[in-house]
Amino acid sequence: MKGRIHSIESFSKVDGPGIRYVVFMQGCHLRCRFCHNPDTWNTSIGNEIEADDLVQKIISAKPYFDFSKGGVTFSGGEPLLQAKFLLEVCKKLKENDIHVAIDTAGNFDTNDPILKELFHYVDLFLFDIKHIDSDEHEALVGVRNERILEMAKYIANVLKTPMWIRVVYLPGITDKNNALLRLRDFIATLKSVEKIEVLPYHEMGVYKWKDLGIPYTLKDQRVPTIKEAKEVEDYLNEGRNI
Ligand code: SF4
Repeated sequence: MKGRIHSIESFSKVDGPGIRYVVFMQGCHLRCRFCHNPDTWNTSIGNEIEADDLVQKIISAKPYFDFSKGGVTFSGGEPLLQAKFLLEVCKKLKENDIHVAIDTAGNFDTNDPILKELFHYVDLFLFDIKHIDSDEHEALVGVRNERILEMAKYIANVLKTPMWIRVVYLPGITDKNNALLRLRDFIATLKSVEKIEVLPYHEMGVYKWKDLGIPYTLKDQRVPTIKEAKEVEDYLNEGRNI
């Protein structure tokens, strides 16, 4: 079976534990206004690769994984759009004892049979929550968040698979109307959360929107400092200890 990938980063230290081999899958069905990878959206472009070829590439990095307690991370785009392909790949990776992480925005049905099977082979989810308020989520991402929050609960409380929550901090948007308090309370209900990472909004991907001819609608958005994002991260983490 073939999948479509956007690119590969063979040595990352920020997409899960240890040294990570990161496969950026092509295709995304969300339209986050702050997205820094709009070039991953189109599902019909990218590089086609056979599942077995991708498995072999990942296995070749296994000495680094073993040494650093690392593994592979599937990111994107939205990797779960290619769940069938990932199922074939991940089955083989687990036969080779490779740690598998999936970075997802989680906008899927928890009853999807392929996803259910795939999740059996996933050791860690990097789970993005874009906004806790559904109206604000729709304004920021293009869809409401109910399905996403259900998926977070399913992974964390039913499957109990380890989860790292990822949040992009956009001052004036993701902290509007008590949103951080509500987000903190929601995350506190998720039983398998090991870590919360808050990433400051940045403008490094804006040039890609220009290149693709897509209007960028966050032109006046303030870029927070790393310190501000860290304060939000500390605040959200406090909720896990209450
Ligand atoms: S989910 Fe990720 S790749 Fe998709 S639009 Fe949002 S930020 Fe971009």
